[in-house]
Amino acid sequence: MNINTNYDNLEQSYLFSTIAKKVNEYIKSNPDKKVIRLGIGDVTLPLCKAVTDALHKAVDEMGVQSTFRGYGPEQGYDFLREAVQGYYKYHSVDLELDEIFISDGAKSDLGNILDLFGTDNTILVPDPVYPVYVDTNIMAGREVKFVDANQGNEFLPMPDKNVKADIIYICSPNNPTGAVYDKAKLKEWIDYAISNEAIILFDSAYECFISDETLPRSIYEIEGAKDCAIEFCSLSKTAGFTGTRCGYTIVPKNLGKLNKMWVRRQTTKFNGVPYIVQRGAEAVFSEEGQKEIKININYYKQNAKLISDTLKECGIWHVGGKHSPYIWLKCPNSMKSWEFFDYLLENAQIVGTPGSGFGKNGEGYFRLTSFGSYENTVEAMERFKKIFG
Ligand SMILES: *Cc1c(COP(=O)(O)O)cnc(C)c1O
Repeated sequence: MNINTNYDNLEQSYLFSTIAKKVNEYIKSNPDKKVIRLGIGDVTLPLCKAVTDALHKAVDEMGVQSTFRGYGPEQGYDFLREAVQGYYKYHSVDLELDEIFISDGAKSDLGNILDLFGTDNTILVPDPVYPVYVDTNIMAGREVKFVDANQGNEFLPMPDKNVKADIIYICSPNNPTGAVYDKAKLKEWIDYAISNEAIILFDSAYECFISDETLPRSIYEIEGAKDCAIEFCSLSKTAGFTGTRCGYTIVPKNLGKLNKMWVRRQTTKFNGVPYIVQRGAEAVFSEEGQKEIKININYYKQNAKLISDTLKECGIWHVGGKHSPYIWLKCPNSMKSWEFFDYLLENAQIVGTPGSGFGKNGEGYFRLTSFGSYENTVEAMERFKKIFG
């Protein structure tokens, strides 16, 4: 047998293991110091009541013969697809039910969707980037090109007509930078994709953090997107489903064969999200659920604002923190990412994530997140001001 040697081309990521090692060593030699983690990439607030009530009810249904459910539809139950359809409609996007696919999260679908594309496609990803986009393509042996995100473009890179690409990744609001595309900028990407006969894989995992009505929460709010884009969304960050697992992917019928191919792919390789989880997800889209998840999101956004305001006060350049749980800052005094990591841990006992771990353009930058508690964020920012204020 031959193994897939493309795996040899993956770069080892030591980012989070190195962070853990450094923090553990620091705590061991400084047991009296309180370390505050602002590098958390996972939500910390629990599921809201509307969701847990729906989960409980669904569990009970599963224990009664007349309401028990076995295999469900691979693309998701109609009750949840209708809820997603209604959610999009609220943002003025009309979707047909069979354009909506329920999944166990955006990460799986972002990887799985590549089953629909040949290995001879050229991939375009922004740098810095969520590592999943790059690694899933390296595994399949595809050529990956990078488009530079930097201070000059406020970490919102724009298409270059001289670069030919077939599959384009866009994440907005962005992880790791927190930067958000407006409609005009996304329209340029759509026009570029259409003229290249390319497809955009649009990751909208953080759409719920957008509070400015003029910013697009779905790429389909922009004309032409249904002809060139697949959208991936998830309840992970919006409703605390990182451990519960549920997301949805939109494959418009305007994309021709791709919609039917995705049906075939899913019915062949996937047996759907658990009924119980889908009932919990349905509750996220209820009036009560929407109210309750907003409270959690606003909690994170309050932390993000606090961090962003503190950085402003200290005169530290940054993006994000407004329509995103992430704040991406330029390391003070021209420090390199890891240098700043060590400095911040040593002098303020704050843990963040070195930007260099997300790509070469991340060097010299640093990611803070708003998923910590309010009290800890306040304390961390007071320490920050003492050093840099
Ligand atoms: C967290 C995150 C997701 C969500 O992944 P799930 O598999 O749904 O938990 C997707 N994209 C990005 C950029 C993320 O940061």
